[in-house]
Amino acid sequence: MNAASHPNLLGLDRSELEELARKLGQPPYRGRQLFRAIYARRARELPALTDLGLKLRNELGSRYRIGYPQIRQRFSSSDGAVRYLFELEDGERIETVFMPDRGRATICVSSQAGCAVGCRFCFTALLGVKRNLTAGEIVSQPLAVANDQAMARGVKLNIVFMGMGEPLLNLPAVAKAVRILTDKDGPGIPWRRITVSTAGIIPGIRRLGRESVRPKLAVSLNASNGEQRSALMPIDKKYPLGDLLDACREYPLRPRERITFEYVMLDGVNDSDADAVRVADLLDGLRAKINLIPYNPGEEFPFRPPPLARVVAFETVLRARGIPAFIRISRGRDVAGACGQLRLAPLAPRG
Ligand code: SF4
Repeated sequence: MNAASHPNLLGLDRSELEELARKLGQPPYRGRQLFRAIYARRARELPALTDLGLKLRNELGSRYRIGYPQIRQRFSSSDGAVRYLFELEDGERIETVFMPDRGRATICVSSQAGCAVGCRFCFTALLGVKRNLTAGEIVSQPLAVANDQAMARGVKLNIVFMGMGEPLLNLPAVAKAVRILTDKDGPGIPWRRITVSTAGIIPGIRRLGRESVRPKLAVSLNASNGEQRSALMPIDKKYPLGDLLDACREYPLRPRERITFEYVMLDGVNDSDADAVRVADLLDGLRAKINLIPYNPGEEFPFRPPPLARVVAFETVLRARGIPAFIRISRGRDVAGACGQLRLAPLAPRG
């Protein structure tokens, strides 16, 4: 058996590593040590784990590995964001975006290679879906980026599942990745700093609401009525807007928690004051906030971003109705790393 075919420990949670330790005749605390080494210290080589003792280290090293995806390219934006192109072990490629911000950072991770949902304004949709990512492939994205950026452990890190793929169509792996990322013996990222964003997969929203460790929920709204939404997001035919908002109303929010609605603003399509009034009506009674994202254009699609004054007017209508609304200008636009732009674009690397 060559090293590459050894089982990968990256992706196992704490209880699985404790069980592995037990199988190797070791006490469970050895499994927790291994968990801390892999996820808190971001160790990449088993032989380097000197605190495990020589016998266990040798045994682990001869039978297992810590397998990271390869960073194929980095694309550095003038705004400080970095788009990473990763190659997975089977040759599939995914993207992850790093966005530093004064002592904090946000990492946007992918949950699938490609995406099947087919939103009409999204470049990832053009790729189709190749496959679901494993929990290890999801968790390894922030770990690899943190290693590459030599990120100190104290940096406040936000994780957003807004990269390639629909996370709620791969919920078991996403939920496991969230459990690992929030584990205090591992990366220890609080649930409030992790957001899973969905195009509106209603059964997935219900299942997510029952998870023991639950991140924040974001929903891509992008329209002010069902007809408009179906035209932009074909998934609305399967999971209609009214049913989606019902599922959001039933979602078990914790104290001070709100659902975030994402609204990609398309010039002359969904950006009028009348649209804003309808959106306010839709969100009436929901503990919600809304992010207004001017569209990041590309040649393949007919859409344009509205003028900034239109975006501000839209925000004003929502705020007048008491809905917390925020304009979000995407980062990484110059390196095809912004919201909706991830498509494995082969730009010349700059970083
Ligand atoms: S916006 Fe999200 S769900 Fe829609 S096609 Fe793109 S990656 Fe998939």
